[in-house]
Amino acid sequence: MKNEDFDVIVVGSGPGGSTVAKEMSAYGKKVLLVERGGNWMSLGNTLSIAMIMQWWPLIFSKQANVVMSASNYGGASVISCGAAVPPPKKVFSKIRLDLSAEAEEARSELWIDTLPDELVGKTNMHLLDAANDLGFNWSKMERFVDASRCVPGCSDCMLGCPRSAKWSARIFGDAALRNGATISFNTRITGIIKENGKATGVSGWKWGRPVKFYAKKIVLSAGVGNVGILRRAGIPEAGRSFAVDWLQFIGAAIPGMNTVHEQPMAVGTLEHYESDGIIILPVFPNWSMLASMLAMKGPAALSWMRNAFGSTGIMVKIQDELAGEIFPDKFLYTSSKEPSAQDKKRLAKGVSIVRQVLKRAGAKGSSIIELKPSGAHPSACCRIGEVVDINLQTRIENLYCCDASVLPESLGLPVVWTAVSLGKRLSKHINGQLG
Ligand SMILES: Cc1cc2nc3c(=O)[nH]c(=O)nc-3n(C[C@H](O)[C@H](O)[C@H](O)COP(=O)(O)OP(=O)(O)OC[C@H]3O[C@@H](n4cnc5c(N)ncnc54)[C@H](O)[C@@H]3O)c2cc1C
Repeated sequence: MKNEDFDVIVVGSGPGGSTVAKEMSAYGKKVLLVERGGNWMSLGNTLSIAMIMQWWPLIFSKQANVVMSASNYGGASVISCGAAVPPPKKVFSKIRLDLSAEAEEARSELWIDTLPDELVGKTNMHLLDAANDLGFNWSKMERFVDASRCVPGCSDCMLGCPRSAKWSARIFGDAALRNGATISFNTRITGIIKENGKATGVSGWKWGRPVKFYAKKIVLSAGVGNVGILRRAGIPEAGRSFAVDWLQFIGAAIPGMNTVHEQPMAVGTLEHYESDGIIILPVFPNWSMLASMLAMKGPAALSWMRNAFGSTGIMVKIQDELAGEIFPDKFLYTSSKEPSAQDKKRLAKGVSIVRQVLKRAGAKGSSIIELKPSGAHPSACCRIGEVVDINLQTRIENLYCCDASVLPESLGLPVVWTAVSLGKRLSKHINGQLG
């Protein structure tokens, strides 16, 4: 390949990367989108999760905590719950970054809406009523879901949505392809090619063979995958402390109720977010995830599997403190992180609220189970102000990051809308530079 074959190379096809690929190709730029994973098409079953999470990225920390991530076309958005929350001012006003225009622009492109009650589901509505009876402030959540393609009683959002009713970053990746972009699957980028201190390309592997691609601008949107690439390029501070937005599932058996067959995170509350960094939304792992999470609690907890297909579950998610480290080159574990004292306090406060709601909804105290906390969103490992500047450029000219890794701190909220807003903002900036 000759130098500057492309205007822009984007590494990683999650929400951040696919947005940059779509926007830059719409500006008429020559774009290459590179994705480590493949393009697994059979969605809506347990095998989908295994295929989308292939390569097991950042799964175990040294302390045996699990953090979820994904490596396939569309990144983690393919297995997301579809909950839509805009970029929080609480986080971005601290660094004087206003994403409101980009977030508004993204609203219609991401199919954001609230769903009618029949799609939200009986159990979700029952939990909402129980919480509000107790004086909490629950409401329906906005979702990235096209109601015309969704069906009542389906909860397959986290299995990849077999009806294409849920927005995923593949929608933007496909739009980039229609705009003339090139996409290279099964291609893992490992290095940055530099000339005179400036980034001019990327190197990596495709099916065991070395590859090199060149462009005027390089955008890393590989999430935690950015850390290894940046360290090898001479930015050692990448991955030193990060956020995971600890979450904890609390399940119960309530006669006649069942969140397993209802839309995840379709109702809930953000009322404790500003004060305590806590959000509470009904969702529970599917049977395969539940089995492994019960096993982590110890063999005695496995007997709870009898409730697997009739459980009502609520999740607590928190803004966690920056801590730990990502180890891109370790094999057995790829990170080190565990909940801090403050993280545990926040989780405990959320769990006590959830217990009240479950009991009000009809759960017996003895049926309630608290699963072990796990990491929801690996993020903030290449933070704005430390690894990248406010325009998301690293100290290597022409090398940018754009995804959840640049968050200045834990979001403690669904991330997709924010990653897309960052992608739109960066695209305007790069287009201005390329002219
Ligand atoms: C189970 C689950 C449910 C979720 N539910 C919601 C929800 O309801 N709402 C919401 O807003 N958010 C949700 N999230 C979070 C959200 O999906 C992620 O935070 C978001 O996808 C992060 O976007 P990103 O742009 O940082 O990239 P990612 O989605 O992390 O994608 C990064 C991509 O880069 C690729 N990559 C990595 N390394 C390399 C490399 N070296 N070379 C090439 N490619 C590479 C990966 O394969 C991956 O495809 C959920 C996450 C999970 C796991």
